[in-house]
This record gives sequence, C-alpha cells and structure tokens, in this order.
Amino acid sequence: MNLEIDQDRLLSEIEALAAISDADPPAVTRIVFTPTDLKARVWLRKRCEEAGLTLRQDAIGNMFARWSGADSTAPAVGTGSHIDAIPNAGKYDGVVGVLGGLEAIRALQRSGFRPKHSIELLVFTSEEPTRFGIGCLGSRLLSETLSAEAAKRLKDNAGESIEDVRRKAGIGGELEQVKLPAGYYKAFVELHIEQGPVLERKQIPLGVVTSIAAPGSMRITIEGAGGHAGGVLMPDRRDALCAASELILAIENAARTTGAIDTVATVGICEVFPGAVNSIPSRVRVSVDIRDTNLERRDGVIKTMESAINAISAKRQVTIHTETLNADAPAQCAPAVVAALSDACRKHQQEFLPMVSRAYHDSLFMSRIAPAAMLFIPCRNGYSHRPDEYASPEDIARGALILAEALADLSA
Ligand SMILES: [Zn+2]
Repeated sequence: MNLEIDQDRLLSEIEALAAISDADPPAVTRIVFTPTDLKARVWLRKRCEEAGLTLRQDAIGNMFARWSGADSTAPAVGTGSHIDAIPNAGKYDGVVGVLGGLEAIRALQRSGFRPKHSIELLVFTSEEPTRFGIGCLGSRLLSETLSAEAAKRLKDNAGESIEDVRRKAGIGGELEQVKLPAGYYKAFVELHIEQGPVLERKQIPLGVVTSIAAPGSMRITIEGAGGHAGGVLMPDRRDALCAASELILAIENAARTTGAIDTVATVGICEVFPGAVNSIPSRVRVSVDIRDTNLERRDGVIKTMESAINAISAKRQVTIHTETLNADAPAQCAPAVVAALSDACRKHQQEFLPMVSRAYHDSLFMSRIAPAAMLFIPCRNGYSHRPDEYASPEDIARGALILAEALADLSA
C-alpha cells in the first residue's frame, strides 16, 4: 500500500473552510447553526460527496460520511472532529481532524486499499460551548452522557431553545434517536492539534494520546457582610473577599499536594460585590476548574476543597454555596487504538510521544461507547483558540498520513 497525502489540496481546503467565517482573516468565528456554520457544512458535504462517501446527518446535526467496507454489517472505524470555532479563533482546532480525516480516507482510496470495516468521517456538532453553554454537545448525545431530555432544556444566549434553533437550521429528526447503538464503532480516532507546547518543546512531531483529562468545574458564592471601610472595625468583619482568598489558596494547595503532575486547579473568575474602594466586600463569586487524568485524585481535591469551605465558613462566619457545573470523568484511551497509532508511527519511522490530552475533546465522550484514542500534532507556541493558532503544512500532512495508516490497520 502506497499512502500519499495530497498536502497542497489539504492545505487549500483548510484555507477555504477558514474563509467561511464571521471574523476577518486570519481570525475564524463559526458558531454552531449560524448561517456561516450552515454554509461551512454545505461546503464540507460537497467535499465528502466528491470522495464518494455516503452522507447522513442525525437530529443534532452530527454529520457521518461513510466509505463502505467489504463487510457492511461489521462495526465501522470512525475518525473526525469538529468545525465550529469560538469567536476570534484560529483555522486548525477541530478542522485538522475533519479535513485531515477526509484526506486520510482519500489517500487510502488512491492507494487501492479496500477496507473490510467501513470507515466513517464524523463531524461533531458544537464541540465548543459558545452558543449553548455546554461543550461537546454532539458527542455527549451520541454517547448519552447527556440525555435528549436534558438537551431539550438547553437554550442559547438569546434564549432560543435547541429544538427551535436546530429546526430553523433545517435539521429534522428526534434527539432521542441521536444515541449510537452499542458496538457501532470498532474504533474511533481523532486527529487534533495539541493546543499545548509539549510536542514543539520536545521537537517530537506526533503525540499518541493515552488518556484524556477532564475538569470538574464549580461556581462558588461566598456571602459575608458589607459595610463602611472606615466604620466597621476588624473584629466585627465578615469580609467575603478575605474568605475567598483563603479558599483560593486552599484549592491551589490541594492540587499541589496530590503528588501527581497531572492534577491542576484554577480559579479563573473572581467577582467582588459591591466592588467599591471604601466598601467591605459582602459577596464574592469564584469559578473553580479542577482537572486530572485520574478521577479519584481529582475528586480528592474537590473533597479537600469542600472541607476547606466548611472550615473557612465557620471561622469567618460567612456562608459558602457551591454549584457544580460539570463533573465529567476523565478517560483512558483504548490500548488497541493506541497500539494502531503507535505502530503506524513506527511503520513510517516517525518519532512519537505518548501523552495526556489536557484539553477536552469529543473523544472523551466517544471513549464511553467505543475504543478511542487521539493523535496530536504540534502547534506553534501551543497557541490555540486565537487567530495566530498555527500548525505547519508538514505536521498536518504527517498527522493525516499516520491517521490513514492507523485507519487501514483498524479497518482491515
Ligand atoms: Zn477542538
């Protein structure tokens, strides 16, 4: 089998898709189910049809483009990613996995390879949480990590329900039917830019993902008592910001002391009320994001945080309310798919790094219903979700080549 990636065509397709955007180049903005997103979908559908793939779309707008294998009843081998982009993003996040996946299929077709298992390109709806406040909408529904009933309660920023939004976008069917039947995929592989600096720093061209970290995220509200910055003396204070400060440091300390480098915790938002120079803060709201590749360890940090909350509220006479926004479990990638990717790298004499995905991906949810793994390529400075996001043509083509090789192996 002689696999050759058409690098020029792949690159020009990435440019063409980037031009379908609501932001000025080089920035890309493509929010799910906007006219721009729908235009991008039409464009992509044409590319898939040109490759002779059979298209289907489910009720949340996930797109499946299938190259039928010799055994059409055997479970398929899936690959893909997303094409939605947050405001002012770059060209490569998600897109490399979609167009790289398409080019991998075309390269296999050109080589004369005939798969036994069908190979299917899957384009997920709304990996980004921009519109509905929840990421990986398509893959959550495919894996039933999110029920159809819960999805129907989602509204976009303008207050429109997901049912209305998708129907207006011309997407029919019932959300109850999105869930994939058990054993639908034999394997699933997602090609993606790393969105971190590790590969570039180590000068290794490929990363084979062995586990995907997942965040637990919370919104914490601390209620103390306000008052005049001059009038209320220190013994009488119930300062909500001082309590929040103790809590933030307790969270940092809990993450630092698990003994594992994979534990990370971040307080990225701190809103202070009333926010005046001469007024004691009466209420503070903070966001907390705690991630790990190991669920027990991550939940251990959350427990430590909870006991700190109890201690701080007792000591400082404040009330602290925690709202859990999200507590997805991390995933271990499937050894068989990791092996297929690693073997593909070896076959093409490419150095690779087994690594952890620290960002969230649709593969996290696909791994609940299929043996899944990911392949990373470097991106400049680790930048992502910004207009200067960049992956080199050589790295993109290399990723598509290794993906093609692994798809051949898994679908034979
Ligand atoms: Zn992505």
